Amino acid sequence: MINFVSENTSSKVNWQGKIVSIQPRTRVWRYLTDNRTHYHLGYNFFIEGHSSDSKKQFTVAISEKQQLKGLFRIDDILEGTAWTKKYEEREFADYYRAGSLKLLDRVNENFEVISPPCIMMPPSIQTYEERGARILSKSLWKTKCFKCIWANMANVEIQWDFDKDIKKYRFETFCYGPKSCKYYKMGRPRTVPYKNRGSALDAGYLDELCTEGRDENE
Ligand code: SF4
Repeated sequence: MINFVSENTSSKVNWQGKIVSIQPRTRVWRYLTDNRTHYHLGYNFFIEGHSSDSKKQFTVAISEKQQLKGLFRIDDILEGTAWTKKYEEREFADYYRAGSLKLLDRVNENFEVISPPCIMMPPSIQTYEERGARILSKSLWKTKCFKCIWANMANVEIQWDFDKDIKKYRFETFCYGPKSCKYYKMGRPRTVPYKNRGSALDAGYLDELCTEGRDENE
């Protein structure tokens, strides 16, 4: 579903819980099928725990600097503060501007599952940027791929009217993993609407362009 923007008041929360997945946090700009640009902003931590606004499962946006400092990983128990999002339609993470991060417990000192789904320390933001992404089936993102470091839920903005600079917003799933991954499924092609004309269809051609720098097994 595509939404125009509504603004909420942002408020500060405290949260605590276990990291169940770490994925890149991205913004994707779409313009018909001519352009799909991925911007890499940091990481999304998917947490099971509790927050002062009564959430038990939530997503926290974390900067690359914070991740480099803490080297956080799946199963870490963390606490911190953050702010609720201002724009429901623009930001997938429930909380952003995280602060006061504190590691409370680490059960996985050495862990690594190399074959997809890849459950390991997430790579640098530059690595995601260089690899590029392909469309990933949303149902796979929710299930088999959820813990994989290459899975991604992107904040997408669609340039709907260039002259008036009107955008529409939605969330989309992508994969930065090896093209040879046996679990990979693209799912349905994605429509990209534009004012006063039928939607264009992103059916895989942009995936080839976005990932042309690597071969099947990279
Ligand atoms: S399809 Fe992509 S996200 Fe899913 S397991 Fe394979 S590499 Fe990971």
